[in-house]
Amino acid sequence: MKTKSLALLGATGSIGTQALEVVRQQPGRFRVAVLTAQRNAALLLAQAREFRPAAVVIGEESQYQFLKEALANQPETQVLAGAAALAEVVTRPDVDVVLTALVGYAGLLPTVAAIRAGKDIALANKETLVVAGELITGLVRQHGGRLLPVDSEHSAIFQCLVGEEANPIEKIILTASGGPFRGRDRAALATVTKAQALKHPNWDMGAKITIDSASLMNKGLEVIEAKWLFNLTNEQIEVVVHPQSIVHSLVQFQDGSLKAQLGLPDMKLPIQYALGFPERLGNDFPRFSFLAYPTLTFEAPDTATFRNLPLAFAAMRRGGNAPCILNAANEVAVAAFLREQVSFLGMADVVESCLDRVSYLAEPQLADYAATDAETRRVAAELL
Ligand code: NAD
Ligand code: MG
Repeated sequence: MKTKSLALLGATGSIGTQALEVVRQQPGRFRVAVLTAQRNAALLLAQAREFRPAAVVIGEESQYQFLKEALANQPETQVLAGAAALAEVVTRPDVDVVLTALVGYAGLLPTVAAIRAGKDIALANKETLVVAGELITGLVRQHGGRLLPVDSEHSAIFQCLVGEEANPIEKIILTASGGPFRGRDRAALATVTKAQALKHPNWDMGAKITIDSASLMNKGLEVIEAKWLFNLTNEQIEVVVHPQSIVHSLVQFQDGSLKAQLGLPDMKLPIQYALGFPERLGNDFPRFSFLAYPTLTFEAPDTATFRNLPLAFAAMRRGGNAPCILNAANEVAVAAFLREQVSFLGMADVVESCLDRVSYLAEPQLADYAATDAETRRVAAELL
């Protein structure tokens, strides 16, 4: 394999730092061309000193001067700031693969820019496909890059589909851990705290996706992500709760045969698969043992308690800008929950009300998503 040159968007986050661990473990395979972060300039600086990229981008312009001065003695690294720079660096000729490990709607424009430049996208930022899946997959077909899933469930499905290109999918089954509140009823959830919601049983992730996992919105977003990644009808996607997070997801073919991908819950595996694709690179990550997990269990999701999951299915069926509304409302609700301004169950109320109130568009274009996102954020803020 030739050395692949990477742009890591959101390098300082959970996925970004694990991607850099993968790069460290694979000397000669990857080169870091671009690193970006929103506000953690100190960590971005340390990463820039270690990996010596051609460019770093800091989202918050107030951090630019600090970074610029700190990297004055490293002339090969250009220092940039702001959202426009983020959309520019991904298009550079020295970038082969763009890892979108930034969080939320902010991923949309840089991902669109990278696709238009023909880059391969290692997609962690699921919100981009939720908001604009039809537009994104259309652009990918037009410009010839590839969408390589990083989300563990979608990586599992992607791995199960290798060699099956001519075989129709009957359905896919996304597994869900159920989060820290699995088995609790609405009365018990009424009083849960931010600290309890931030304790995920199996995965150590950024705050937003950890709350989404506790509320099952993460699985709802992943259902919509799967629809676009694998070109599925709404009826072909099922969710099953699997608390051990060992079976990462399954594909059922038209002969009824099921393929699954298994492994320990460690995001470095799907990150490495996306960055190295189509090769499987050797590593010394801990191996799964059935004897350490003698019992793997499966159960139906509790959609009466965790309403975000049926709300996401409903938004997917409605189509148009409904998933964009769902996503924006959820981003506002999660941020408010993290500031302790809305209750755990109140988050789904905000999402449901926004889906009722925000103007519906059946065939949104790129500019319409910005308008829908902004309108939803206004409506959600009023509701709070
Ligand atoms: P995180 O909060 O740990 O990190 C987010 C990164 O994005 C940081 O580097 C931050 O500086 C940057 N960022 C934040 N807001 C930004 C903005 N407005 N503009 C530009 N950059 C911004 O998040 P994470 O857990 O690493 O998740 C990143 C993405 O990957 C999310 O879309 C998430 O759903 C997805 N994902 C994460 C995991 C996981 O295990 N963490 C698993 C599957 C999918
Ligand atoms: Mg996932």
